Amino acid sequence: MTKALLAPPAVGAPDERAGDEWRDRPAAQQPDWPDPSALRAVVRQLAGLPPLVTPEECDTLTDRLGQVARGRAFLLQGGDCAETFAGTSAAAVRRKLETLLQMAVVFSYAASMPVVKVGRMAGQFAKPRSAPTETRDGLTLPVYRGDAVNGVEFTPEARRPDPGRLHQAYQASAATLALIRAFVAGGYADLRQVHAWNQDFVARSPVGQRYERLADEIDRALRFLDVCHVDLSDLRTVELFTSHEGLLLDYESALTRTDPRTGGRYAGSGHLLWVGERTRALDGAHVAYLAGVRNPVAVKLGPSVGADEVLGYVERLDPDRVPGRLTLVVRMGAKRIRDRLPGLVQAVTAAGAEVVWVSDPMHGNTITAPSGHKTRQFDDILDEVAGFFEVHHGLGTHPGGVHVELTGDDVAECLGGGSAVALDDLGRRYESACDPRLNRGQSLDLAFRAAELFRG
Ligand code: PEP
Ligand code: MN
Repeated sequence: MTKALLAPPAVGAPDERAGDEWRDRPAAQQPDWPDPSALRAVVRQLAGLPPLVTPEECDTLTDRLGQVARGRAFLLQGGDCAETFAGTSAAAVRRKLETLLQMAVVFSYAASMPVVKVGRMAGQFAKPRSAPTETRDGLTLPVYRGDAVNGVEFTPEARRPDPGRLHQAYQASAATLALIRAFVAGGYADLRQVHAWNQDFVARSPVGQRYERLADEIDRALRFLDVCHVDLSDLRTVELFTSHEGLLLDYESALTRTDPRTGGRYAGSGHLLWVGERTRALDGAHVAYLAGVRNPVAVKLGPSVGADEVLGYVERLDPDRVPGRLTLVVRMGAKRIRDRLPGLVQAVTAAGAEVVWVSDPMHGNTITAPSGHKTRQFDDILDEVAGFFEVHHGLGTHPGGVHVELTGDDVAECLGGGSAVALDDLGRRYESACDPRLNRGQSLDLAFRAAELFRG
């Protein structure tokens, strides 16, 4: 563990140190920046730039998630494992957005609930890693920690952490967010249009017939509204929020701002921030940072977590019991979800917290293919979601949503799904900078299959 931060920046609000308790705590997974003065300069620069999101928007997301916590809405969170600077093209962002919107329509219809849409987008540029170094052909270099830290190429130059990349991450996030806002406001997300894309998917998918019934039902519902002369103009736009792992505390704290309305502190880098499986120490810096901001926040829960620990997150991150403030993202693996989850849900319910329960069916199901590629089986992913729904349905609690790694592109990174990506295909189009993502077809397969499971 390295200690994160340096001295706080000299610019910004007068209460720059408020909410800075995390600085005195151990911060896991921080890069070894070679030049602390260069880091200080970037932090100072970021502190003088506008935040990417506003406190009002963050409060709106907390409200929406409060609806999820109370069983009245469903959360869909998705995007790349690791966004890259090179991947910030208009086309790639649009395809990711389309995929999320298409999945949301399916869930919304099947669950008869609004879907709160949150991208793993516009900020997901830093990665926690299992080991600090990587060795290839006798050469050992620092591991890739995301484009916000170093380059993915296996050379000493690329792998050297460069604080200038934090500024590039801010710019790439701002550009992505601007695109998202433009697409969403411009009528691109119109429900009828998104439904037409889904019909197209059903017609082309090798297993499309499976989904015909649900797609037809949605079609009939839309026609019915139309013939009743219901004003469909509300369907032209959607709300879409951003999220990422709040990993690099120097970056996060440089973008933390005080809300002039209330004096509360907010992370300005994205609407929702989470702590990951490797940085969720209760007395660590990451949890302390999240405790000091008012954004909605989330914690990833892996198979080793115990009920007491989960209650610790509830006390630390949601002491006022605000519905929607805390999201618990469960990533146990398909084999463990049915055993591990019930005790956690029962403990949180007994504590009176109204949290959002979300299934991340990706991170507990990662395997290594003979070719060396990290991959995941579509059937394991679906099975973990099924187990998550079963547990909640059994306890009478709300399975609040899913959190998935996906792309709008036709990559071959996860195995199986309707178009049956096979082991041999992994070399064909494996583009992820980190973990394997569902491609567009697999993402839609998952939405249709999970929606069927949700309806029971
Ligand atoms: C991730 O979401 O990419 C990740 C690293 O997850 P986890 O912290 O759950 O392992
Ligand atoms: Mn990942």
